[in-house]
Amino acid sequence: MSLAEEMDTVTDVAAGSVERHATSSTFESTAPATGAVVGMFPVHDPDAVAETVTQAFAAAELWAGLGFDGRRQRLDAYRGYLARRLHELADLVHRENGKPHADAILEISLAIDHLAWAAGHARKALGPRRVRAGLLAANHAAYLEYQPLGVIGVIGPWNYPVFTPMGSIAYALAAGNAVVFKPSEYTPAIGAWLAAAWRAAVPDAADAFQVVTGFGDTGAALCRAGVGKIAFTGSAPTGRKVMATCAETLTPVLMELGGKDAMIVDDDADVVAAADAAVWGAMSNGGQTCIGVERVYATAAVYDRFVAEVTAQVRELRPGSDDEATYGPMTMPSQIDVVRRHVTDAASAGARVITGGTDPDAFPGEGYVAPTVLLDVPEDSAAIREETFGPTLTITKVRDAEEALQRANDTSYGLAGSIFSGSKSKALDLARRMRSGMTSINSVLTFASVPALPFGGVGDSGFGRIHGEDGLKEFTRAKAITRQRFALPTNPMSFRRPANTADQLARIIGMVHGRHR
Ligand code: NDP
Repeated sequence: MSLAEEMDTVTDVAAGSVERHATSSTFESTAPATGAVVGMFPVHDPDAVAETVTQAFAAAELWAGLGFDGRRQRLDAYRGYLARRLHELADLVHRENGKPHADAILEISLAIDHLAWAAGHARKALGPRRVRAGLLAANHAAYLEYQPLGVIGVIGPWNYPVFTPMGSIAYALAAGNAVVFKPSEYTPAIGAWLAAAWRAAVPDAADAFQVVTGFGDTGAALCRAGVGKIAFTGSAPTGRKVMATCAETLTPVLMELGGKDAMIVDDDADVVAAADAAVWGAMSNGGQTCIGVERVYATAAVYDRFVAEVTAQVRELRPGSDDEATYGPMTMPSQIDVVRRHVTDAASAGARVITGGTDPDAFPGEGYVAPTVLLDVPEDSAAIREETFGPTLTITKVRDAEEALQRANDTSYGLAGSIFSGSKSKALDLARRMRSGMTSINSVLTFASVPALPFGGVGDSGFGRIHGEDGLKEFTRAKAITRQRFALPTNPMSFRRPANTADQLARIIGMVHGRHR
């Protein structure tokens, strides 16, 4: 079978996984590099979404009843299935999202590793345990466990269409929930493929992971469908709308939103390594990375060397859709206008454009943006303050690492960041004071590949955490249980307690706690 025929089969199977719920309209997903149709998908209306969620609730009971071991076995089967079809899925990601095949492999590999970790650690993080009952309930046993919420609605973006939603889907499933996933309108085939793969790998719990497709209204219907929680990943403006919709039904939300991440390059940094990381962090995936590097603050001691090294490295990059291209087209065409506005505004405010930029050559063909490096960008310009989400990088000279930190933190966002420094203790201190959910030292984006580490932001970058134990707990409610082991001679929580019980209690509390000043 030729690759094209094979891809058609994949897409047919994927489409089949979302066509079980009747709808009146459909939409096309197209390849950003060629405009070719990747697949046709239903626009699920509120009734279809409600029907899917009802099926998911039925599946959730069975899924939760399998227990940690039963779920782990099936999640392992799913990751095995994905690993065996890694290239097939990567081809679809390349077609529908536009990123190079090699980057798709990297993204899917990360997702598979998270699946393994979530399945393997769910019992330890969430399972029943005894906790100390403490002084006032010494005659009781106390138990804690984290129970699933039922059905989790996952709404995802198009930029990492496998890794990003899987950060919620894998952890929600491992915690014992069913999942209904609404992928972005730009990447429905990938979402549908993931659900079709689940049905094939886990046939006895097929409805535990389902997909609905459509536009923002389909996502809004999922918010209103009575799910136990919405895990939203996307932009801050859409996040606000999702929260407002979820407020109607008091549905809790997890918000994974955008960022304006900064890199700090200190006096004693390895400048070549920092430049390599900055260029990758800013330009890979065409800069369409929530935790991508958008701003660099380099100290005066290294600034010139850093700029020269970045410039040299950026000149080696070439966007395109062939196998040798370093990054692909912009997945969402309208984002090109945002990038162009940020670059144009910065240039007219006095910024120096040292590569790429606004001239026609800098946008080398329909759908592509050239790698663009901007120097001396005023701190109040859009290129510094708003999420650009394109292959651009601003580099600003600062006095020292303290000034770099202060500027890095001067943003409404707070997703991630990076620090290049020769001093471990100084770098750790800066990392702790960086106002962000994640920071990597002497590398970029590494925290995303450590399954044990929680992932999420502060401020306009959102709240709640995926990944790690926190990510498992995000999709549960804590359940507290006590069991009386033996009765005390006097029970202070009874109307039949003796009159002097309160005095005795006050004496004990005074003895135990009163000595602390
Ligand atoms: P959007 O915010 O535009 O969309 C995200 C999802 O929400 C899509 O599935 C979208 O559907 C859906 N949606 C749109 N309107 C509504 C609505 N009213 N109610 C419910 N759902 C709705 O983000 P993008 O897809 O453009 O993704 C890029 C953004 O995601 C960037 O800001 C990026 O930083 C952020 N991001 C954050 C990550 C993190 O972990 N913090 C990771 C990856 C990306 P449709 O596409 O059909 O409109």
